[in-house]
Amino acid sequence: MTDSVVRPSEGIDWTLECLACGATSTAEGLPTVCICGQPWLVRYPDRRPGIKQRAEVRRRHSMWRFRDFLPLRPFEEPVTLGEGDTPLLRLRRTAARLGIPNLWLKDEGCNPTGSFKARGLSAAITRATAAGANRFTLPTAGNAGIAASAYAARAGAEVRVFAPDTTPRTILSQIDTFGGTLVLLDGHIGDCGKASRAWAAESGAFDLSTLREPYRIEGKKTLGLELALQMAWKMPDVILYPTGGGTGLIGMWKAFLELKEHGWVEGDLPRFYSVQSTGCAPIVKAFAEGADRAEIWADPWTVASGLRVPGALGDRLMLRALRETGGGAVAIDDAVLVEAAETVSREEGVDVSPEGGAALAALEVLVGRGEVDRGETAVVFNTGAGWLYRTPTELRGKR
Ligand SMILES: *Cc1c(COP(=O)(O)O)cnc(C)c1O
Repeated sequence: MTDSVVRPSEGIDWTLECLACGATSTAEGLPTVCICGQPWLVRYPDRRPGIKQRAEVRRRHSMWRFRDFLPLRPFEEPVTLGEGDTPLLRLRRTAARLGIPNLWLKDEGCNPTGSFKARGLSAAITRATAAGANRFTLPTAGNAGIAASAYAARAGAEVRVFAPDTTPRTILSQIDTFGGTLVLLDGHIGDCGKASRAWAAESGAFDLSTLREPYRIEGKKTLGLELALQMAWKMPDVILYPTGGGTGLIGMWKAFLELKEHGWVEGDLPRFYSVQSTGCAPIVKAFAEGADRAEIWADPWTVASGLRVPGALGDRLMLRALRETGGGAVAIDDAVLVEAAETVSREEGVDVSPEGGAALAALEVLVGRGEVDRGETAVVFNTGAGWLYRTPTELRGKR
């Protein structure tokens, strides 16, 4: 070993690509979005050393077991809390009730910080702190704020979190627990985004918003990589995903395409179904209209706060993933998604969030319509833990 200083670009063997305009870029420093305003996606070189060794990932832990598919330099350790490695559970009772025997639930509520947002922010904060950033800002519908606060703390950095004042109190309290500076606004995540960008311009804090930097999506990609590993490198027929900003959906789509490219899986990709609330369903509407962009949803409201995203920067990519995989999009009423979460929590002992409830209710709809065949293998994502949406006092007097 020498004590020479590592150059900032050393070991960065990936590049950035914009699917909207075809531009490419190197990945040094703190990349944001393409000059055309659309998100950058990360491209890795074909010959990364570990990419030919599928068995190797079994010997490692956390989502970083897939480091050969992730933006990490060979000598680097990530900013981690042990995210990923969440259970893939077979739902036997729910399966019997819905009449679809091969039903699985990926329980992302078991992540550090209680949601799959941990995956994205572990990756984004790893890269941003490696490039020298130590102050962050982001708008959130809730769970991203918890994850950003925890991973910023882990990295010894600061974060300012802009959240709607209607965000569940337990989520806000978790942001505070991990030391994020909370700013509550009377509005939705779009309004919080404007305030966060203004703060970034004023203070120099780095903006961690969904798809405004290229690495959260790389962390989310591990949802798909891990699912493939847990299913012994066979892809399911159908994936139901509660959709807000869309990084989970786009990330999984990218994951399966990369696994196919390197020969880790074979065959058709799963059909992706995006699930939203009828109170905020811009992607469902755009899909139904055959549009390639989604209009901003006016007056968005849903108790599934992670789905209250009226306009997403990733709309084109999401719609493309749904169409290219032969999937679709379903909107569920709040009363129905809440009931589905309660029913499956009691039926299976899993703490289902309202967003997870939406995905479970959507499966029932799709099976009813015959869009999902009873013989198919379906995977539903419970993106977060249900307890984050409850306050202890709500228990009193109930039942
Ligand atoms: C953020 C969030 C979503 C939406 O995820 P995207 O990847 O942004 O579409 C769904 N469920 C929960 C619990 C969330 O926190």
